[in-house]
Amino acid sequence: MLICRNQSCQAQWEQADVVIKNEGQGLLFRCPMCGARNYVEKFEDENGNVVYEQIEGKPFI
Ligand SMILES: [Zn+2]
Repeated sequence: MLICRNQSCQAQWEQADVVIKNEGQGLLFRCPMCGARNYVEKFEDENGNVVYEQIEGKPFI
């Protein structure tokens, strides 16, 4: 579950709901509701599935 970091939005999204891409400063998705940038980091679980986790501390814009 991904949660928009925009304090006035905080919408929750499944990974399939958002487009994760690299705009030059790392992987991020734009909240489909408010358009805020939310930075994520890419991991693989023990089964080799790609999962994304949100990075704490990186500011959204
Ligand atoms: Zn949002």
